[in-house]
Amino acid sequence: MIRVENLSISYDGQKAVGPVTLEIPRGEITAIVGPSGCGKSSFLWSLNRMTDLIPAARVSGQAFLDEVDIHANGHPPQDLRLRVGMIFQKPNPFPLSIRRNVELALREHGEKDRRRLAETTEQVLRQVGLWDEVAHRLDTSALKLSGGQQQRLCIARALALEPEVLLLDEPCSALDPISSGVVEDLISQLRGRYTIVIVTHNLAQARRLADRLAVFWMENGSGNVIEQGAAAQVFAAPSNEIAAAYLQGARG
Ligand code: ADP
Ligand code: MG
Repeated sequence: MIRVENLSISYDGQKAVGPVTLEIPRGEITAIVGPSGCGKSSFLWSLNRMTDLIPAARVSGQAFLDEVDIHANGHPPQDLRLRVGMIFQKPNPFPLSIRRNVELALREHGEKDRRRLAETTEQVLRQVGLWDEVAHRLDTSALKLSGGQQQRLCIARALALEPEVLLLDEPCSALDPISSGVVEDLISQLRGRYTIVIVTHNLAQARRLADRLAVFWMENGSGNVIEQGAAAQVFAAPSNEIAAAYLQGARG
């Protein structure tokens, strides 16, 4: 689904990541693990051109979504972000009602039909397991929800736009253990319907969720992938010594 070739990211001329070459297969969950500061977020952000929003950031090399070159000039980032949704570490619902949070995304993309707005809202809230919890209070503030509910609302908001790819940047690390488990189960249920790339520093979570695994590490002052492959195989027999030590919990 996504093919990354020699992608590098620099900030103010200083290389932070790359060159990364990585395959992200359609419908699978690819987990990115590694210590902090090795460029996992930067890499994830580059996949839907959030890096465009950082003036100091420069991206070189290529990433193809199907056959579309994500970073090619003339490819509107708004079109890309419809296909590639993003979820952040800290849940970031708009300070609006639960209903408006989902509807706003749809309205921004031209949906005006009230019946369809209501239908889609219910459908995506059901999809994230939130409907029964919020159906009676759709018009109350999203900020009154618990952290885990807010994160599921953010996922519902992303799903409302029918993305093909979901990028999740440590989506559980700001949540309590129970909410974290609920969000993790939800991500697992989305497998197959969406192509998912999740950054996590929780190796146990990566082991439970990932079909494919990429280990990022600092090498010569910038982050790069030191190991990648089918998750079961990488966990069982990593070929890189540093990755092996990290995955056994001995380093990082
Ligand atoms: P990770 O997600 O693995 O912790 P990041 O992608 O956040 O890593 O950071 C990788 C490197 O890029 C770090 O050295 C960080 O300081 C640098 N970096 C990240 N964002 C910016 C930014 N907006 N401006 C300058 N440097 C940045
Ligand atoms: Mg990060």
